[in-house]
Amino acid sequence: MNRPAPALTSAPVNGCGEAPVLRERGQREVFCGLTGIVWLHRKIQDAFFLVVGSRTCAHLIQSAAGVMIFAEPRFATAIIEERDLAGMADMDAELDRVVHKLLERRPNIRLLFLVGSCPSEVIKLDLSRAAERLSRNFAPDVRILNYSGSGIETTFTQGEDACLASLVPTLPREAPEAAPSLMVVGSLSDVVEDQFRRMFDRLGIGPVRFLPPRRATELPPVGPKTLYLLAQPFLADTARALEEAGARRLDAPFPLGAEGSLLWFRAAADAWGVDRSRFDEATALGHQRAKRALERYRAQLAGKRIFFFPDSQLEIPLARFLARELSMQLIEVGTPYLHRNHLASELALLPAGTALSEGQDVERQLDRCRAADPDIVVCGLGLANPLEAEGTTTKWSIELIFTPIQGFEQAADLAELFARPVTRRKRLMV
Ligand code: SF4
Repeated sequence: MNRPAPALTSAPVNGCGEAPVLRERGQREVFCGLTGIVWLHRKIQDAFFLVVGSRTCAHLIQSAAGVMIFAEPRFATAIIEERDLAGMADMDAELDRVVHKLLERRPNIRLLFLVGSCPSEVIKLDLSRAAERLSRNFAPDVRILNYSGSGIETTFTQGEDACLASLVPTLPREAPEAAPSLMVVGSLSDVVEDQFRRMFDRLGIGPVRFLPPRRATELPPVGPKTLYLLAQPFLADTARALEEAGARRLDAPFPLGAEGSLLWFRAAADAWGVDRSRFDEATALGHQRAKRALERYRAQLAGKRIFFFPDSQLEIPLARFLARELSMQLIEVGTPYLHRNHLASELALLPAGTALSEGQDVERQLDRCRAADPDIVVCGLGLANPLEAEGTTTKWSIELIFTPIQGFEQAADLAELFARPVTRRKRLMV
């Protein structure tokens, strides 16, 4: 157990581990953390997300998640009206009333998140006190937690980080006699989760648990014998909270592409002392199939020049995959935040000399992008339309969060997400 992380056999010696980073702190074009509710409410099937916000917040969530006609959605917005903003109403009493009504009508809710927004933060509504107060009323049937999804400080994937970090203090403590366990951290689609679980079984690694779980009643225990693997690169606060609870992170690239997935599994296999022949036997088929499936996309994408605006925090792992497995050229890789520790293995794999930027000054970055004239730009929705209108091919970064892209079986789907807009543009130009 706990052998050091494996050497990255296919890595260049330095990559971008020490590379200089352009830091910008200007105007940003990003969605807020409320967006995370769109995938989190699908993942935790007995949870409900109550945004405490304005009509704008309600519109954002509804248009991002789509309106469900036949199913009752597991998210809603408690609207802060003008008289609330003017301090004319007792907000605590209003919120208690809304929560009582909701839980009465929806008795199958086991976990309720009160989600803060810009308006609730502006009027300094204390949602952590509200969550404590309401928890006393509804425990043990319903657990009530709070986190902020406000756009004041966040980029959209930080909503998931804040949500999972709020869950960590409520995780059961692992039993003192418990065997070492693996926790996979970051929401994954169920199909990917099932594939990962099968692979860990083949490797003899376990018990394996996932955070977030599919049901609030299946929260994974945590403690000093918990080793965790991040499945998403945007979970800095969650990781910190897990480490405060005693868990230890296994360093690995993220499971994107054939190579990233292989190295991600290998980090766990090395920690569990799985011998090399068993590892090769368990992973060979999936790894080879992924590599073969990527060949036709490499033919389409090799040499194409790509520019990343900072948005999802997936940018660096994606850039590594596109450069190393599809031979794309990285012009600039922008990320909202660069967590050097969590991304150390990724940075080591990036081609030396890759231009990295952190944060944003959107006009300056647009100037750099236009001057470089890339074949494809990865960016948020707000920039995609104007860039498309200028004749630039774009890929919405949010699509990469909504689509299952992790693991061997999804490597080709991930490549397809980039190949499709490039070939579409080529057809339009013929
Ligand atoms: S939380 Fe803030 S940024 Fe997000 S929709 Fe509401 S007002 Fe807009």
